[in-house]
Amino acid sequence: MATYEMFWDCPACGTTKLLGKTHRHCPSCGAAQDPERRYFPAEHEKVAVEDHVFVGRDLVCAHCETPNSAIAKHCVNCGAAIGDGDDVGVVLVHERDGSSEAPSEASGATSSSAKPEVPVKSGGRGWAGLVGLGLLGMLFVSMLCCCITVFWTREGEAELVSRSWERSIAIERFSARSDGDWCDGMPHDAYGVSRSQKQRSTNRIPDGEVCRTVNRDNGDGTYSQSQSCTTTYREEPVYDDWCSYTVDRWGHDRWETAKGTGKDKPKWPRISVDGCRSLGCTREGSRVAHYTLHLREVGGDGDADCQVTEAQWTREKKGRRQTVAIGVIDGGIRCSSWE
Ligand SMILES: [Zn+2]
Ligand SMILES: [Zn+2]
Repeated sequence: MATYEMFWDCPACGTTKLLGKTHRHCPSCGAAQDPERRYFPAEHEKVAVEDHVFVGRDLVCAHCETPNSAIAKHCVNCGAAIGDGDDVGVVLVHERDGSSEAPSEASGATSSSAKPEVPVKSGGRGWAGLVGLGLLGMLFVSMLCCCITVFWTREGEAELVSRSWERSIAIERFSARSDGDWCDGMPHDAYGVSRSQKQRSTNRIPDGEVCRTVNRDNGDGTYSQSQSCTTTYREEPVYDDWCSYTVDRWGHDRWETAKGTGKDKPKWPRISVDGCRSLGCTREGSRVAHYTLHLREVGGDGDADCQVTEAQWTREKKGRRQTVAIGVIDGGIRCSSWE
């Protein structure tokens, strides 16, 4: 790990780029070094410290605030005793105060080429945050609107004007169907198979590293430089055999439906299926039934078609009236208020 001099600027006479370890006093005017004015020099200006021995972070003289080496017995500026407990360590400079961050693999890269990345990144984060906040706000407003529409209701009287029912049976057909899968997962009864290559997954392969130089303040007027590296990866597609094939399977063909009003007794549609199992054969699938009450507000515009159980549907009589909740905004009768 290489060690270099921190720089400092003399506040008394304005001389810049003084050396943190070598120049404990300003060579121009003699003013004592102010450790808070230390900074990392630019890469092309750095000054190496040969055979550096680290003895600890500098101690700041309690009387004149001059930084002193940790092994000093007396202040280089005022001569007061050092290391007797009334002095404190200097504040360390952090890298962002004066560092250069350039990828080391591009040898020609200068600090100026890397620096713009920082504001771009933080700006992007701020923008994303703003968009996120906006979306959250829109979500809140739409939820509020939804809540008001659903829950803001008035009382009114509704009448059952009619009833209807609908019963359906799905018809399935056994037929040749095109499908595809990874060949190792193809059904055993597939036929008419054609194979092709498709990307099945992606491998991440390490293909180098990106390094940057990290400056660390030693606190004694010097700093150390090291490399901080992260591995980079490239993505490589992994191909496998894809099979397109035909299989004979049962599948949905159509719905057969019967419907009627409150005058009829609900019944299932009459269907005819083959009962065989070869290409073109049909069979009965699932059954679905809906029983609906058609409600209308008495002396108003509110209405609703309410789905109920078959038992309730059978019990209900046309012309029955009761008090219900009606949406103020959408004018819909709330089915849950019809009991
Ligand atoms: Zn000076
Ligand atoms: Zn002193």
